[in-house]
Amino acid sequence: MDRIVLDSPLDMHVHFRTGNMLKFVVPYTACNFAGAMVMPNTDPIIDNHYALCRYREEIKAACKDAFFEPYMTLYFQTSYTRQMLEECRQDVLAIKLYPRGITTNSGHGVLISDPEVETVLGYMTELGIPLSVHGETDGYVMRREREFMRTYERWAVKYPKLKIIMEHISTAEAVNVLGTYPNVFATVTPHHLLMTTDDLCGDMLRPHLFCKPLLKSPEDRAALQALVLGELSDELQRKVMLGTDSAPHAKNKKECDCGCAGVFNAPYALPSIVPLFVEKDKLPELQRFVSDNAKAIYGIDTLPKMVELHRESQRANAFLGHLVGPKDDSYVCVVPMYADQILRWRVRKTWVDPVRTKVVLPKSPLAK
Ligand SMILES: [Zn+2]
Repeated sequence: MDRIVLDSPLDMHVHFRTGNMLKFVVPYTACNFAGAMVMPNTDPIIDNHYALCRYREEIKAACKDAFFEPYMTLYFQTSYTRQMLEECRQDVLAIKLYPRGITTNSGHGVLISDPEVETVLGYMTELGIPLSVHGETDGYVMRREREFMRTYERWAVKYPKLKIIMEHISTAEAVNVLGTYPNVFATVTPHHLLMTTDDLCGDMLRPHLFCKPLLKSPEDRAALQALVLGELSDELQRKVMLGTDSAPHAKNKKECDCGCAGVFNAPYALPSIVPLFVEKDKLPELQRFVSDNAKAIYGIDTLPKMVELHRESQRANAFLGHLVGPKDDSYVCVVPMYADQILRWRVRKTWVDPVRTKVVLPKSPLAK
């Protein structure tokens, strides 16, 4: 097999940042995906309807002519009222919860023990707004996700009608929780699916693979691979979506003392994961992982954007830089995942299916 066509790939977890960085990185996602769920941990955070709509316009402007739908999220705040959520419900695909201080721009996150958290979870359940979670505690770094499982389990039982999405799962324990509760779903990133702690620091330190949650063990990676390939069960496979967690930081913010967490994988996310599925002859599972499962879980539809990949070697760019404005400080330079390495597949072309375009809803209804 040397050519595959993916129907409307969706990236259900992406960071676009703001300003010059946004202008620079959005096209990498917009050209390879039909849509993406955009994280709200910008500076300042997206915590109201007005900011959300403005942010969406900023993203759409950066897409230029690409067919691409940004699905927006709000940053979970305990101050949200039912009325406020009701007013912006139609524009919000999910609300993203960050435990305080756990990752980039999570200083505005919540204390999980705060009883007001559950008040807002109650509103979200009533209004049918899914909960998206960065599930880590502030414990020992390799155990943070495992320690957060009890919080997922408590919420899953207490709010059986609330859709809970465990973002960027990295452990076998998370796969177990996914299989236990019908209202719990998950995203998996290309880097957690393909790499381990050894890739990050087993030999030399690779700061561009430093992310939260950290890359884990070969056993954890094997559990994630079995999940997305449908080797555990068909039912479980339908609960997992691609969320790249593409999270750009300027090169100098990664290659320094106290480097930032985040992997910028948007340019090569699809080519990087294709071999895993092709080698095991799992193309239906690939299509579900990159699109169909997300459509079913969130109740969304998109323009039928086809993305054609060919088995053709390419060397990933060592860095991607761009002068986005007249001043020196507007030079943006980021290093992508697989920088300067050979990838076996590449995106060859994309197009929007003209026949199906007529029957697909242009705007997505919110999941109920
Ligand atoms: Zn993220």
